[in-house]
Amino acid sequence: MEIYLDNAATTAPDPEVIEAILPFLTTHYANPSSAHAAGKRVKEAVDQARRTVAHWLGASPEEIYFTAGATEGINLTLSGAIQAYDLNHAITSRIEHKAVLQTLKRHEKEGDIETSFVKLDERGNVDLYHLENLLRANPRTLIALMHGNNEIGNLTDIHAIAVLAKRYNAVFFTDTTQTVGKEHFDLQDAGIDFLVGSAHKFHGPKGAGFVYINRKHQLKPLIYGGGQERGQRGGTENVIGIVGLAKALEISYRHLEATRNKVSKLKQYLVSKLAISGIEGICYNGESKSVENSVPNVLNVSFPCLGTGSIVAKLDQLGIGVSGGSACQGGGASHVMQALACEANKENVRFSFSKFNTFEELDHVVEAIVRIYESDPAAATHKAWKRIASWA
Ligand code: PLP
Repeated sequence: MEIYLDNAATTAPDPEVIEAILPFLTTHYANPSSAHAAGKRVKEAVDQARRTVAHWLGASPEEIYFTAGATEGINLTLSGAIQAYDLNHAITSRIEHKAVLQTLKRHEKEGDIETSFVKLDERGNVDLYHLENLLRANPRTLIALMHGNNEIGNLTDIHAIAVLAKRYNAVFFTDTTQTVGKEHFDLQDAGIDFLVGSAHKFHGPKGAGFVYINRKHQLKPLIYGGGQERGQRGGTENVIGIVGLAKALEISYRHLEATRNKVSKLKQYLVSKLAISGIEGICYNGESKSVENSVPNVLNVSFPCLGTGSIVAKLDQLGIGVSGGSACQGGGASHVMQALACEANKENVRFSFSKFNTFEELDHVVEAIVRIYESDPAAATHKAWKRIASWA
């Protein structure tokens, strides 16, 4: 039995999404730029997808541009805003996705901007007082702070940041890759200048995403070409991806509360099972254990190091897919875990859930983790093992 608990990395395409895509692989394959009827039909599907995305986000269709995913959208909006407004300063955090950090680094190297990193508390939450001080000291600033963190699940108060951005005349980009389709948005008057989404994070196809560019902005294209996406992104549209993205988003928002309930119960169930597993020294990173302050689908757990090997690798051998970074046996912790200064002798495992996971799967996963500790060569001296052995 294979168990997939890596849904923050990518999700399984929803069967309804696959069904919606199929006609665009078989019958409706014309180029949406073609003037004939077949082309017009496909163009209408792309336009409808744009209206769907705009509808669920409280935006207008003119503010939605399709891309090949969040990384492209991040490059487009960050680079576009720096150039368009001659911004010379960016504020970000050490726990942003690499797509944000590397894009800003490039602009810093090229002498376009200086970057400040906002202070985070020990759980990775943005210090809004520090953010305000940075904004006060730096006019012409681009804020790049994410909504939901992909490793530790922290939810950032983007509404409070939008208020500060407005007060100090800053441009506000937020990476919403982990929250689009999972949290409500009403972008009209939200004070957010740019945000991004990626279909494969909410049961859509890979390689399809979008950016929201508030109507007051006009950015230079990242990709020049045939004028598609109203000149913002050249190249024949990924019609399959776009149709799949819109369908996946629609399904996500139609069932938002039910999915959120289920996924958040899965998270709480795993926490409760780990608490009685007998493994000592487990702790939770960032806000991931909190129901209110984190995305429901991410739980980042620190486990005591094994004598040999890593839990992530051993779970993989047992058919259980999770993500993680290890500080054990000299393994490298991720840049996010390093920024949080987590305990050095622990291995981080990110469990990330979806609507397709079950409670039985989690029973199986906890049993597997207990077995991994039982069979660890260091078990005899391992505190955790002693507790487990005493059960027998
Ligand atoms: N930003 C965040 C927070 C992510 O989790 C990811 C995906 O891992 C990305 C950006 C990049 O998304 P994509 O795979 O669509 O380029």
